[in-house]
Amino acid sequence: MNTTSDAPSNAQTRLFLCLKDNYGVLVHDPASGATAAIDAPEAAPVEAALTASGWKLSDILVTHHHGDHTGGIAELKQRHRARVVAPRQEASKIPDVDETVAEGDTVMVGTLSARVIETPGHTLGQVNYFFPTAKLLFAGDTLFSIGCGRVIEGTPEMMWQSLLKLRALPDDTMVYCGHEYTDANIRFALTIEPGNPALAARAAEVKRQIAASIPTVPTLMGEEKRANVFLRADDPAVAAAVGLAGKAAAEVFTEVRARKNKF
Ligand SMILES: [Zn+2]
Repeated sequence: MNTTSDAPSNAQTRLFLCLKDNYGVLVHDPASGATAAIDAPEAAPVEAALTASGWKLSDILVTHHHGDHTGGIAELKQRHRARVVAPRQEASKIPDVDETVAEGDTVMVGTLSARVIETPGHTLGQVNYFFPTAKLLFAGDTLFSIGCGRVIEGTPEMMWQSLLKLRALPDDTMVYCGHEYTDANIRFALTIEPGNPALAARAAEVKRQIAASIPTVPTLMGEEKRANVFLRADDPAVAAAVGLAGKAAAEVFTEVRARKNKF
């Protein structure tokens, strides 16, 4: 699976599988020729995508320190001398970092501009990269299609606050995430919201995509807002579905996340 597409502002992206179920993605700025890899799970698929596109790697934007997002950095850095940009709080755990970033920082990829959004929860220092003009979000292991990352280093409350920051982005934002987990996420989400029409529509779409060997990523933020139960913990229907009617959204989110862990 390897797909190229145009986004507003002429940014181009190229998505490809890495390792078992990780996604690698390249973002290309035709105006300058700059190309960023968002994370580098392993070097070979990134190299293959560069060769297929004819793009030259200039930057690696890292979302978090886990090995399945950073394993290819050293090799790619050595070969391409790309600039490695990484979250400040996790820089010591990530190889070959040139620049560190934190909440609100701007990162340029050629003429393309990205805003750094800190989204602690899965890891404490995780950052996501939002390109407002290109309408692209690289959500790492914070937000998945119809899912969210496991809360490993932070607290569920922290993760909920991070997801709220992403939910505030425009509906027409294209969301790229770190893994192809959509099918399992939908099967779980249907246990909480079997009557959600947006979720049913997404389930039908994903079934078609999988049958055609098409990635289920990227997804639209507007669709995630309507269909992703992890973004909907403040919906009274979701609270009621998990037996927490009237309770705080963070408490509802914590319960939904705990159920997913056991699913
Ligand atoms: Zn991770």
